[in-house]
Amino acid sequence: MSFDYDLFVIGGGSGGVRAARVAAGDTGAKVALAEEDRYGGTCVIRGCVPKKLMVFASEYSGMVEDAQAYGWDIQAGDFSWDAFKGKLHAELDRLEGIYRNLLKNSGVESFDQRAKLVDAHTVELSDGTRKTAKHILIATGGRPVVPEFPGSELAITSNEIFHLDKLPESILIVGGGYIASEFAGIMNGLGVKTTQFYRGEQILRGFDMEARNMIADGMVEAGVDLKLGTNVAEMRKEGDAIRVTDTAGNEHLFDVVMYATGRAPNADDLGLEQMGVARGAKGEIVVDDYSQTGVPSVYAIGDVTDRVNLTPVAIREGMAFVETVFKGNPTPVDHDLIPTAIFTQPEMGTVGLSEEEARAQEPIEVYAASFKPMQQSFAGRAAKVLMKLIVSQETRKVLGCHIVAPGAGEMIQLAGIAVKMGATKEDFDRTVAVHPTMSEELVTMKSPVRSA
Ligand code: NDP
Repeated sequence: MSFDYDLFVIGGGSGGVRAARVAAGDTGAKVALAEEDRYGGTCVIRGCVPKKLMVFASEYSGMVEDAQAYGWDIQAGDFSWDAFKGKLHAELDRLEGIYRNLLKNSGVESFDQRAKLVDAHTVELSDGTRKTAKHILIATGGRPVVPEFPGSELAITSNEIFHLDKLPESILIVGGGYIASEFAGIMNGLGVKTTQFYRGEQILRGFDMEARNMIADGMVEAGVDLKLGTNVAEMRKEGDAIRVTDTAGNEHLFDVVMYATGRAPNADDLGLEQMGVARGAKGEIVVDDYSQTGVPSVYAIGDVTDRVNLTPVAIREGMAFVETVFKGNPTPVDHDLIPTAIFTQPEMGTVGLSEEEARAQEPIEVYAASFKPMQQSFAGRAAKVLMKLIVSQETRKVLGCHIVAPGAGEMIQLAGIAVKMGATKEDFDRTVAVHPTMSEELVTMKSPVRSA
């Protein structure tokens, strides 16, 4: 049977674009891709990239104070949201153009339309055109979800935060995950009076407790009004503001309320049900180690499969799909020991097991150093950093590395290589320190602070 294409990709985000262009560019496959929104997907258009630019923008206020402490006679002026927003969106336009060109230059035919599946080898575009393909790859990503409660329609999400007409005077951010905690730091740094509600005991559930405590302390120290064990009961419009009643019955007034309480896979209305493609509890597409669904010609990668929802993981899954299907080299995706950064202020880099997870698994030693780094200490800033290694007593392998420090994301990329290679504590120890740096502590910690 002959098909219009060897591969039809639905979704032009990081994972879909990578799979499409590698399949077309490296193997000469005939590839098409459909995207209903902007090319680049969540990460480039409404996630990692604009978020990180906002982190950079928000860090300058503290830098001016540090510069003064270092002898510079400078004053912080006002932050112009308009000036920043204009540049931000111009940059996103530029990046979207690059994504489109990458596809074009690899010979991928793209359709600026929504696509859904009709059968195991056919997709239908929103204009009604049908296209056939030997393989179909679903890479439709995810979207923020706001729980339903009285007034929930007043909340914005991370999708809208990059498009605010003006910077609010006050904001409530609800949630304690990556997105809520990162935006609390950003808004606070930009001079917005920032409150964060988190329903649990400590933000960033699932990460190392000592690191979580240090991040929360640092955020509060920097000015975030962090209310733990608190959630929203209801919200009402009051003039231009939003009156929020919390679960303890207290009332607050905010200009903007942003919800970051998790994301859902974009797998609805794709025609999956009638084909028998299985969905999981959160609605995600169920796939095997090779990203294949129960329908052999249909694969899915990235956030729509809700495995590890990170851009570089979606890209890896896309590359592994091409290896498996187009290069005859079956390649499962390795989801173990993925280093990751959380761009809170203070920033965190982490790989492997938290102290709590490791302790539940086997006897461990914990090595940790917490100190005021030279640059901030000289400037009179209180913020401490954390360098922490979790070591297996039996194998001496480093099971986890947790860093809370300026530049922690950059550091963990490198430490992640050693941990992934199976480095032992003694391997770290025989590496000479780079002096004077913060990360040298990772190779100079002599005695465990705890054994368990
Ligand atoms: P997360 O799933 O990480 O966090 C959701 C947060 O919202 C949790 O604190 C959760 O509380 C809370 N929550 C859930 N439901 C409710 C509710 N009904 N009422 C109040 N609070 C609620 O989601 P995010 O949206 O922060 O991020 C989504 C994903 O995006 C992440 O898992 C990550 O993979 C990715 N991401 C990665 C980034 C990075 O690499 N730096 C940056 C941003 C996103 P509880 O803990 O009690 O469940």
